[in-house]
Amino acid sequence: ELEVARAARHQPATTTDGVSIEVAANVNRASDVPAALENGAEGVGLMRTEFLFLESDHAPSEEEQYQAYRQMVEALQGKPLIVRTLDIGGDKEVGYLGLEREDNSFLGMRGIRLCFQRPDLFLPQLRAIYRAARHGPLKIMFPMVSTLEDFQKARDLAEGVRVEVGAPKVELGIMIEVPSAVMLAEELAREVDFFSIGTNDLTQYTLAMDRLHPELAHQADGLHPAVLRMIDHTVQAARKHGRWVGVCGGIAGDVEGALILTGLGVSELSVATPAVPTIKATLREKSHQDLVQLAQKALRCQTAREVRGLL
Ligand code: PEP
Ligand code: MG
Repeated sequence: ELEVARAARHQPATTTDGVSIEVAANVNRASDVPAALENGAEGVGLMRTEFLFLESDHAPSEEEQYQAYRQMVEALQGKPLIVRTLDIGGDKEVGYLGLEREDNSFLGMRGIRLCFQRPDLFLPQLRAIYRAARHGPLKIMFPMVSTLEDFQKARDLAEGVRVEVGAPKVELGIMIEVPSAVMLAEELAREVDFFSIGTNDLTQYTLAMDRLHPELAHQADGLHPAVLRMIDHTVQAARKHGRWVGVCGGIAGDVEGALILTGLGVSELSVATPAVPTIKATLREKSHQDLVQLAQKALRCQTAREVRGLL
């Protein structure tokens, strides 16, 4: 089966009734792009830019970041790229930044919140991304948005930087990974260009189970009906306002997850590179209509076990 999947990896993930799902890869650095493309990825749905910081002993300068993003754009040769702005804090610690220790780091200064607190980090990053945007297509995505003001403030800062560097407009989207963002999805959908659902954090925050907890993490299944109903709500809101929705959390690269997410109506799945051929092959075998039915059943289940039992 893996052989079949590999052989067809460059074919689109089109269901038997003709719906194509974009399958992209989560890639952190330009040197990983050739492998992603070789595995059939149609773009990069999530570049976790914090890796530039995590893999360095100093905060990468605007110039260093510009080179990194530009290399990413160039390696993709016109294929789509979503650059996520810095998402540190929570489980991702960067020693040299001198961030304050927090008792509840997952509920503290992480992601966009930290970027607002540290314009010395956020503004050079935005400048670097916009400068790279002059070399090819990219979209910008903000992590950990939990209120409308979060997005508005990030957008205003980004727009200021864009004008300053004379870059083209690019699409601005947000991660949907906090329950408040789900409940505000209608309002957010009016203002953003796209959503990408981060099921790792959305599961953690919905079920109130630390994603790294030794005893809880394995129960924190992104296919839990509580999480699926969050995703359904998000997709409905986005659809109402004509926005596209992708998923870049781990469940997108899970065979059962990919089928249910597709049935819920997402249009892009961004997965780890090795999962690309299998996810594409899995979708090709199904009819979208059947997946919609499957997803409706999943939404009515009461436990994650029951959801997984449907397949
Ligand atoms: C997520 O939360 O699902 C996600 C994709 O982001 P990260 O795993 O980097 O927090
Ligand atoms: Mg996340």
